[in-house]
Amino acid sequence: MSFSSILNNTTDLTNFPFKKVIFGITCANFLFERYVAYRQYKLLKSDNKKVPQALKGKVDEEKLVKSDAYGLAKNKFKMVSSSISLCINLAKLNMYSSLWNYSVSIGNCILSTIMRKPFVMSLNASNVAFFILSQTISTLLNLPVSYYQHFVLEEEFGFNKMTKSLFFMDSIKILIVGNAIGSIPLYILGLVLKKCTENFVFYIWMFIMGLQITLFFLSDLVIQPLFYTFTPLNNKELEDKINALAKECGFPLSEIYMIDGSKRSSHSNAYFSGLPFMKKKIVIFDTLIKDSSIDEVVAVLGHEIGHWKMNHISQMLIINQVHLSTLLMLFDMVFKNVKMFADFNFIIDPLSKVPTSSLPGSNYALVNDFPFFVGLLVFSQLMQPTDLLMNFGMNLFSRHNEYQADNYAVKLGKGEDLKKALIQLQITNLSTISVDKLFSMYHYTHPVLCERLEAIDKYTSEQEKKSE
Ligand SMILES: [Zn+2]
Repeated sequence: MSFSSILNNTTDLTNFPFKKVIFGITCANFLFERYVAYRQYKLLKSDNKKVPQALKGKVDEEKLVKSDAYGLAKNKFKMVSSSISLCINLAKLNMYSSLWNYSVSIGNCILSTIMRKPFVMSLNASNVAFFILSQTISTLLNLPVSYYQHFVLEEEFGFNKMTKSLFFMDSIKILIVGNAIGSIPLYILGLVLKKCTENFVFYIWMFIMGLQITLFFLSDLVIQPLFYTFTPLNNKELEDKINALAKECGFPLSEIYMIDGSKRSSHSNAYFSGLPFMKKKIVIFDTLIKDSSIDEVVAVLGHEIGHWKMNHISQMLIINQVHLSTLLMLFDMVFKNVKMFADFNFIIDPLSKVPTSSLPGSNYALVNDFPFFVGLLVFSQLMQPTDLLMNFGMNLFSRHNEYQADNYAVKLGKGEDLKKALIQLQITNLSTISVDKLFSMYHYTHPVLCERLEAIDKYTSEQEKKSE
């Protein structure tokens, strides 16, 4: 397919002010998030907060004060960190072409040194170089914010268990792993795009699905063990009870592991992993085992198994795939717009002899075809409003699933233990008890504690009525 025929296949958006619209969307998104956070701030600041009925006798005033103080501190921190992120994003939007020119020169220079002869990267390799440079800059710029979050904010409330050397080691690991995980698929994606312009959406969709499955296995085998130590559970009673529970529910349990979540934070949790129709691994944080009784841990796992029983993971996977394919179709419609790239100072000249070169004395970048990754970045910024709506929808769906999984645990006769475990989790995690409605709709994938406790009571009485 020739360059001009590609252009003819693309939706004509020659008059669409891409850059202005993206600037507008980014600022509007920021203001919306700040408004949501302000509502929560106002609620936490108000004096008329009391321990809700469902928590009476279980959480004392002191805990409530502390959890509100933590919520307030996080809220203020987010105000500053999101303003910094906004500035970085807007600056980056203005500098795509300069960043591109730098990454191409650095990449060419490094590769020429390694190969000991002059080397010019292909457009696809330049995409990868641009990705690595922008990722590295973002990570470095975010480092002070992340440092503050761990060593000042989380430290103040006793959550941070990380040493400074562990923090820096983690940051380096994340940078290397992130760049490696991103670069390889990006390069292959670029090749697919070049070879299969006809059925681009289908091929890329297949590719991303394959990638997600690979990443899933890699995450279990390579990535998670880089950060956590997995040890087989050394508690016979707990192990027996979990095995009995799995048998009762028909859950295909393969192994049970404990991870040292306490090395980094004292927030606690448990989860299971494994692809649909395959054996599953249960992973429990050491903090959960330490803070809860054996029956409470088993009740939490009863809830987790409920997610599996009701196919929540598969449903999420299907929604994600539909979402992804829709995004890809939209991307296909806008990606090959010369105007979109021109707005960000990219000049596309198919006759240019070198794949990419900077124009002397300007911050314009000259490329001989569409720079795929830049297109992806611009597109993702354009999609912010739909992302926002998707976020609301997914949270709604996720909450519905949480209620269903709680109900499943109640049917297993573990309602009371689950309630105790949830209260304990709330106390150890200092989760905010007072939550504004819009704030919780936007940020929370789980119903707040009181809503869950009330629902569990309702399910329990329904269950009792049935068995009478
Ligand atoms: Zn859940």
